[in-house]
Amino acid sequence: MIPNRQRDLLQCLWAEGPLSRWELHERTGIRPNTVGSDTASLLDDGIIRECEPTSQPRTRQGEPEADDKTSKKRRLRGRPRVPLEIDTQRRHVLGLAIRPGRVEIAKLNLQGKLVEAPASRKVKEPGTIIRTARDLLQEEISDATLCIGLATPGFVDPHSDSILFSSAWPGFGEISLAPIHEVASTAPYYVLENDMHALAARWLLTHRAGQSDDVLLVYFDDGQVGSAVLIAGRPNRGCVTAANELGHTRLPVETDRCYCGRVGCLERVFSTDFLRKQGVAEGTLAELAAAYHDDDEAMSQTIGHFAMGVANAVNFIRPNRLVLVSELTGYANFSDALEESVRSQTLKEIMDRVQIERWQQPAAQSAETAGWLGLASLYCEGWLPENGREKAEAIASAEN
Ligand SMILES: [Zn+2]
Repeated sequence: MIPNRQRDLLQCLWAEGPLSRWELHERTGIRPNTVGSDTASLLDDGIIRECEPTSQPRTRQGEPEADDKTSKKRRLRGRPRVPLEIDTQRRHVLGLAIRPGRVEIAKLNLQGKLVEAPASRKVKEPGTIIRTARDLLQEEISDATLCIGLATPGFVDPHSDSILFSSAWPGFGEISLAPIHEVASTAPYYVLENDMHALAARWLLTHRAGQSDDVLLVYFDDGQVGSAVLIAGRPNRGCVTAANELGHTRLPVETDRCYCGRVGCLERVFSTDFLRKQGVAEGTLAELAAAYHDDDEAMSQTIGHFAMGVANAVNFIRPNRLVLVSELTGYANFSDALEESVRSQTLKEIMDRVQIERWQQPAAQSAETAGWLGLASLYCEGWLPENGREKAEAIASAEN
């Protein structure tokens, strides 16, 4: 189990590496001797590696030379610099995604690059999905596996280790994850999360969000709206492991009945079906978004409704950053209209302080994205669930 101090070092290497031990000390304020022993244990674990020594100590551009009074510091600075970096060879992360009718597994190195193409298996009977996922995991897991991220849509109860309800098998009821857990928990880090939180983990690690920022991610596609809230870089845990259910917050508008059983859900509003109800005879929501101009009344109305849902969430959460995640963000007219509509429906005092970003990212439910969950458990505090933390500690003490 990585103590928070080592996590700080890893975070530095993730964001700015390669860095020497001395530079790690300067960046984190951790005592040089402690940096020495912590990096030694990270080297032992195969998480970081030493690069070729360089003779000149590196200073960052524009940064004033560090205070150079002590002789010890001078001595250390005069030594050849041995940069450290995240080791991409010895250990890996496995991402496992459970999707409607399919399970997929991906192997990533510790810098988040795919080691090989993801493998997937079709599942015809919902009853066999967990067994299939377990078998795939069993085939890939090894002593080199450091972290496992398992992502699934729907609601997960981490205490009973079961999926309560999911669009992957509507109407099928509660499914136990125990067979997967049995295999996965032999790895030092194992995180089970909703796929929106996996997407949020990927965003967090690739966008250098400040650990003090609160972030609202909203993912959308035709008939799908998901969201995740990061509170100071940690997922908002809530009472159940799920996405932040923006897609099932409702507006008093006539839509088709949602699979949750209600009418007016935001993800039913943001759909081709809703456009049909407004008399649009042809074209999907994606096609109309691609061709969007503000004289398209039906589309403008759909955008306005969807933006109202997002604006309500922004007012409620007051995030530092709102990230709109979708392949549809590639359509400039549509995206501009959506962003403008969110801005105009949010309280001005809040909106003036929210940074809106677009992230053109396809389907959330991939094994590669699930792998980023595993990486988040390694590099970021607050991602490993409580029971996962106990297991990691038990494994670490057994190894020592
Ligand atoms: Zn619903």
